[in-house]
Amino acid sequence: MKPELSVVIPIYNEETGLAKLFARLYPALDALNLAYEIVFINDGSRDQSPALLADQFRSRPDVTRVVLLNGNYGQHMAILSGFAATRGEVIVTLDADLQNPPEEIGNLLAKFREGFDYVGSIRRKRHDTIWRTYFSRMMNRVREKITHIKITDQGNMLRAYSRNVIDLINQCGEVNTYVPALAYSFARNPTEIVVEHEERAAGESKYSFYSLVRLNFDLMTGFSLVPLQVFSMLGMALSAGSAALVALLLIRRFVLGAEAEGLFTLFAFAFFLMGVILFGIGLVGEYVGRIYLQVRARPRYVVETILQSSENTPNPATTQSSTNQDGIAHAKHS
Ligand code: UDP
Ligand code: MG
Repeated sequence: MKPELSVVIPIYNEETGLAKLFARLYPALDALNLAYEIVFINDGSRDQSPALLADQFRSRPDVTRVVLLNGNYGQHMAILSGFAATRGEVIVTLDADLQNPPEEIGNLLAKFREGFDYVGSIRRKRHDTIWRTYFSRMMNRVREKITHIKITDQGNMLRAYSRNVIDLINQCGEVNTYVPALAYSFARNPTEIVVEHEERAAGESKYSFYSLVRLNFDLMTGFSLVPLQVFSMLGMALSAGSAALVALLLIRRFVLGAEAEGLFTLFAFAFFLMGVILFGIGLVGEYVGRIYLQVRARPRYVVETILQSSENTPNPATTQSSTNQDGIAHAKHS
């Protein structure tokens, strides 16, 4: 039987918080009185997380499935591998650290049933470090300007998607992506609700400043060509500016005679322009790099095993798998 709701949760080194997550998530979903499944994805954790997930699978095999990836592919790839394993009509994504309260899933569903195919969420009060909150707010604003994606609070994973949106995402082969934005681009009737946000229950954020910058580059270059166009425009403006400067210098040459001042102004200009050029090249490189990764067409992730009870046969369209006597299906795909 197909569940109505699939909850997708990526896990990377979350051993300290998993017990708390299980203790709140299962009762919250049981209280909804519908057929659900929870798809955990172990994103190559190096701690006890896979063992804890396997234990949890043993205690609730009816509603639990665990996708074990063979390495760390990042939160968004992990979520995509989870999507391929879902069968529900509504798919909800959630963080494992309890920053997104599982009790909010009911509210997402209620909104979804009003006829939307994408329910995003806005955090009422964000509980992250101050620099994180400000950086994220700034990038949110830049992204609003250059992409057509209207997400008020882009950093939040607690969202509900329709089967249709997820099927379309499953057909994409993007190497670097940002799940909420990708889903938004397929949604026909998106909306948002306000949700609570809590402190991380245990452990530390898996995102360094560097990985956040990378993520934002993925978001900008993956969903928009505006950064490249800005550079063409900037190039044009600078050419026009320097043409005007040449004209001015020529006029001064004839009116005032030979001048040899302003050498350091020239240096300043030159260095500034070099900076702009380097940034431009780097930006072009971002796109070229994406193209490079994409044309190599290597598997985006490798599923080692999927723990699921034998009646939960996986969707043959997305996975090739064989089931052994323990009811554990082995699947590999990308
Ligand atoms: N995560 C993952 N792979 C990674 C990094 C993170 O699966 O490479 C998971 C992590 O276990 C958590 C979610 O993604 O469930 C969000 O991570 P985190 O809480 O560290 O991000 P933040 O809340 O700081 O944005
Ligand atoms: Mg978190």
